[in-house]
Amino acid sequence: MNLLLMGLPGAGKGTQAERIVNDFKVVHISTGDMFREAMAEKTEIGMKAKSFMDNGELVPDEVTSAIVKERLAKEDVKKSGYMLDGFPRTIAQAESLDEISSDLNQPIDGVIYIDVPSEKLVERLSGRFICKNCGATYHKIFNQPKVEGTCDICGGHEFYQRDDDKPETVKNRLDVNIKMNTPLIDFYEKKNLLHKINGDKDIEEVYEDVKKVIKGL
Ligand SMILES: [Zn+2]
Repeated sequence: MNLLLMGLPGAGKGTQAERIVNDFKVVHISTGDMFREAMAEKTEIGMKAKSFMDNGELVPDEVTSAIVKERLAKEDVKKSGYMLDGFPRTIAQAESLDEISSDLNQPIDGVIYIDVPSEKLVERLSGRFICKNCGATYHKIFNQPKVEGTCDICGGHEFYQRDDDKPETVKNRLDVNIKMNTPLIDFYEKKNLLHKINGDKDIEEVYEDVKKVIKGL
């Protein structure tokens, strides 16, 4: 079974990824892990990627694709299949993934897209606030203080938000991601590989839907 997992920041991709790997035993491959491995193993392409990063430059698509190819050619993937997470990010990468996966005879069986409306994502991602006195962190939706307006730890009443967690900043960050994501979603929709999952539900319910899709592939 070969999967792609997609979703905007805050959509709950990480939690779903863990469960999928647990139940379906696919090899979870995230872009970050792939780079770290290739650099640790000092493969030729890994060293090439490192030279770009050391110079503070973006790693070009063809180098990233070569790293993906190297990773997908390994024994564990041949045996158990893969779930790619964080790759592809661009249409050029998606096209090269098509080539790589057909060269390796490991075609993508399905693309799982955890779909959450962006207003909801802004709520989830901008909910964090911090106690001014002791630094304890809370969340407007997921982790409220036991007594409203009073810190559980120190009893303080003043809170603040980091700039990164402010709704405006979060919204801008999301917009950048949406712009990158939309063409990819169209790309896989046209190939009839896209499975949109409503991610605006309980983690458990979302996972039930994910499981149904995977079992039907
Ligand atoms: Zn406090």
